[in-house]
Amino acid sequence: MIKVLRLGHRKARDARITTHVCLAARAFGASEVIISGEQDDKLIENVNDVTERWGGPFKVSYQKDWKKILKEWKGEIIHLTMYGIPIQDIIKKIKESKNEKLIIVGGPRVPGEIFKIADFNVAVTNQPHSEVSALAVFLHMFFEGKELEKEFENPKIRIIPSKEGKKIVDGGVKDDKAS
Ligand code: SAM
Repeated sequence: MIKVLRLGHRKARDARITTHVCLAARAFGASEVIISGEQDDKLIENVNDVTERWGGPFKVSYQKDWKKILKEWKGEIIHLTMYGIPIQDIIKKIKESKNEKLIIVGGPRVPGEIFKIADFNVAVTNQPHSEVSALAVFLHMFFEGKELEKEFENPKIRIIPSKEGKKIVDGGVKDDKAS
């Protein structure tokens, strides 16, 4: 079981990227995102709406006090940071234990103590990019590609993969849309 902690959400600036953190987490096999920073009920509603339509299970919640989350966390804590150990050198060790994993991604400057609290500081390349790309690559390597075949439960809407155009089943009705 993998949960994601998104630190330092800023309602005005980060609504889009934090939404994408949640969507990437859901699509690539994490079970939950906990958002810390500023409370943003609209964002949570939007993500829940995606889960409602495209299937679950997937949970998104808000918790102001990230220190409490880390204190109470029983499994490993993995902090994604460009300053960490390259993922390709450490992923095998991370996968050794079957404990739950909490993946921390930052937004603005991450508090220094996170680097100490984390069991693993992991870099997805040592180049700067984003929390969405780092999370997606981490989950892809963690699940070894099996997440690509994940079936979501009770979807109202789903895509029929197609070479051309857009084929969607919406509420049991097949709809062929041109792209
Ligand atoms: N100036 C910020 C800092 O260094 O704290 C940069 C934040 S970056 C835009 C937002 C988040 O993306 C980081 O906190 C980290 O979780 C993730 N991230 C960015 N590049 C990464 C990398 N190369 N490897 C792992 N995570 C990365």
